[in-house]
Amino acid sequence: YGDYNQKIDYVFKIVLIGDSAVGKSQLLARFARNEFSVESKATIGVEFQTKTLVIDHKTVKAQIWDTAGQERYRAVTSAYYRGAVGAMLVYDMTKRQSFDHMTRWLEELRGHADKNIVIMLVGNKSDLGSLRAVPTEDAQEFAQRESLFFMETSALEATNVETAFLTVLTEIYRIIS
Ligand code: GDP
Ligand code: MG
Repeated sequence: YGDYNQKIDYVFKIVLIGDSAVGKSQLLARFARNEFSVESKATIGVEFQTKTLVIDHKTVKAQIWDTAGQERYRAVTSAYYRGAVGAMLVYDMTKRQSFDHMTRWLEELRGHADKNIVIMLVGNKSDLGSLRAVPTEDAQEFAQRESLFFMETSALEATNVETAFLTVLTEIYRIIS
């Protein structure tokens, strides 16, 4: 299975960044395997997952990198960012602090990554609406000011997850093709 001699036209590296526990690993599990695990442990070992899709009749392999918990110590290395053409900047919409830290993450990203990198600001856990601590407008304003795409998602309910990744991949494709 999966061994069907598929010709890959492009490989796009995308990195997930943001504070610990905002849902980065679950967003990746949802997008790559359509899974969500309730008892998600801090990611260990796995560096990236891939998902192959077709954009404009071309086969694109998305290689999506997840931190192995290094974000806890702000020890995400430059190797992590190297070659990335897309980034998902993730905060938890029920945790104001995780949104306030977006400035620092964005700074770090811009310091390490290619200047043409496509960035999506992602407000995750939209299923927890009653606990919302970050108004949509605040995030929209930040995204606009910093020229980022923006979407609110729920990895748990699979809301906007595919759209968020596809938007980034399609934009990368548009830029390089
Ligand atoms: P990471 O540290 O950023 O990789 O975060 P994880 O993906 O490990 O998720 C941290 C916690 O948030 C786990 O308990 C997840 O089950 C939970 N979580 C992740 N995404 C969602 C979501 O969309 N909604 C809700 N309610 N919980 C989520
Ligand atoms: Mg994780």
